[in-house]
Amino acid sequence: MADHYETLGVSRDASVDEIKKAYRKLARQLHPDVNPSPEAAETFKNVTHAYDVLSDSQQRAEYDAGGRNPFGGGGGGFGGFGDIFDTFFGGGGGGGRGPRSRQERGEDALLRIEVDLIDVMFGTTKQIEVDTAVLCETCEGSCCQPGTSPVTCDICHGTGQVQRTVRSLLGNVVTASPCGSCRGYGTIIPNPCVTCQGQGRVRARRTVSVDIPSGVDTGLRLQMPGSGEVGQGGGPSGDLYLEIKVRHDDVFSRNGDDVLCTLEVSMADAVLGTTSTIKALDGDVELDVRPGVQSGDVLVIKDRGITGLRSSARGDLRVGVQVVTPSKLDHKEREMIRQFSERRRDPKPELAHFQQGLFAKLRDRFVS
Ligand code: ZN
Repeated sequence: MADHYETLGVSRDASVDEIKKAYRKLARQLHPDVNPSPEAAETFKNVTHAYDVLSDSQQRAEYDAGGRNPFGGGGGGFGGFGDIFDTFFGGGGGGGRGPRSRQERGEDALLRIEVDLIDVMFGTTKQIEVDTAVLCETCEGSCCQPGTSPVTCDICHGTGQVQRTVRSLLGNVVTASPCGSCRGYGTIIPNPCVTCQGQGRVRARRTVSVDIPSGVDTGLRLQMPGSGEVGQGGGPSGDLYLEIKVRHDDVFSRNGDDVLCTLEVSMADAVLGTTSTIKALDGDVELDVRPGVQSGDVLVIKDRGITGLRSSARGDLRVGVQVVTPSKLDHKEREMIRQFSERRRDPKPELAHFQQGLFAKLRDRFVS
């Protein structure tokens, strides 16, 4: 078999344009549509293969260096007939074709984490366990046993595609499909990495430090770019999403950045007034309960709520008062209350507008 340059009839320092021109000229004479002779078909195969090699700068460099397969390796379809259509009809135009990469972007990962209201108040850092694909340390993502490397696929010669020419009413149509032998990669891995079964990645559990900002609420998702699954073949990692769930607290609840709770006050304290130290989430708070306080009154302690998600301002602590009516009185107490009542001459029960529960009031009263 002749040298590729001789086959095309060009000098060894021919430019890409010269090579293309030479190929077109020969193709016009030799293409099976034009010249049905078996000799022409054979020559055309060789011409096409020579063109394939010399028109690709990398393959040409390898060929010039006397690299592997200087004469094209013989048998097993060149698949080259399609190229004449690319050349003359612009099919594909060279863009978008070629083998696909073994490296793929990894999937995103979603993890749910629970935090307490106090974590939300100021933000926190949590160590969380993440179970994702990570880079295989044995092959460092190459998918090959150390010391081995992928070899060019014999079937598609590294293009990742096999082409077929189908005769149709419109003339010859070239179809390309992924090479079944290498699954479109253009290379075959003869010795897959044992650790990762040739995937380039393995599953592993690791601890990740997560900054949880203040003000987050249930359902919010934090995005950690590049902390998801490592891709096939050691490809770039997907993102890690953390979905927040704020744990229920038996005492404190939340409305936006305000923290809500209820203070139960005895009837006597409600009448006479009192002071009380309560344990808020972030420390003690002195409360002044005025004489004559009513159920549903709200004591507002400014700036003791949750620090906002996008500001450094804090919400308020809102304490709803619930006056507790004594239910177990002894004989003497009942007598005292009766005397108190007779002296007061308070009005009889009166009809008024329906009032919702205390919590509803807490939320509605000051939130405008
Ligand atoms: Zn591996």
